[in-house]
Amino acid sequence: MKSKKVLIVEDNDLNRKLFENLIGQFYSFKSAFNGLEAIDYLTKEHFDLILMDIQMPKMDGISALKKIQHSELTESPVIAVTAFAEESDRISFLKMGFSDFITKPIRPKEFLESIAFHLSNNNRQTEESEQASLPETILDKSIILQLMKYNSQETIKAVIRDFLLDTSSLLKKLEIAFEEKNEKDLLENLHILKGNSGTLGANSIYLIAEKTETFARAHNWTLVEEGIEKLNHEKSIFETYVTKKFIFEL
Ligand code: MN
Repeated sequence: MKSKKVLIVEDNDLNRKLFENLIGQFYSFKSAFNGLEAIDYLTKEHFDLILMDIQMPKMDGISALKKIQHSELTESPVIAVTAFAEESDRISFLKMGFSDFITKPIRPKEFLESIAFHLSNNNRQTEESEQASLPETILDKSIILQLMKYNSQETIKAVIRDFLLDTSSLLKKLEIAFEEKNEKDLLENLHILKGNSGTLGANSIYLIAEKTETFARAHNWTLVEEGIEKLNHEKSIFETYVTKKFIFEL
């Protein structure tokens, strides 16, 4: 049953036990206490996902990632587990090459969802050809290909820039509508966001907007708030993603 294997890299005993308890319910795992040990494991066995703490003795998470990249030790996603709360820091983790980041203290449900997401993503990529370098969940490559038939790269880049600007302002409006518990404004702005993201193939944003719409209709404010948080998070991921030039190298 537990066909996927996760490498947990964490020096803090309490955190490591928590991760082991959560991950152990669904996946098999091994634990390393620092980056050096993680490198050692990765040279010997295959892991489907690596959960990498940032601050550790002997070798920290960033040095370990660099070593992994340099020596091509794995193609599996490496997720940063970070105590830094600053959004700019979190984005820099993606730029370094981490597949995602999880902020401590973790929320068990989101923690497991994130791991499940990356494990399934990884699955799809290995099943498909080399071409699958573009995760469909962030940006649907077929839609970009379609746009490229009729538009220059510059035009598409401008469209993406506009989309990001619109998304920022829609998210602000959503936050205000949420504070006011204004269902009408929530639905209206979510509807626009759904339309925009659907057009561009920003699938993760589309799917979260769609779910949040349902929650708004049901007046489930806790989930609406979570939805808006997730949309902000997804927008950052999308933004970082599209700045990488390979979106046009399909
Ligand atoms: Mn640590």
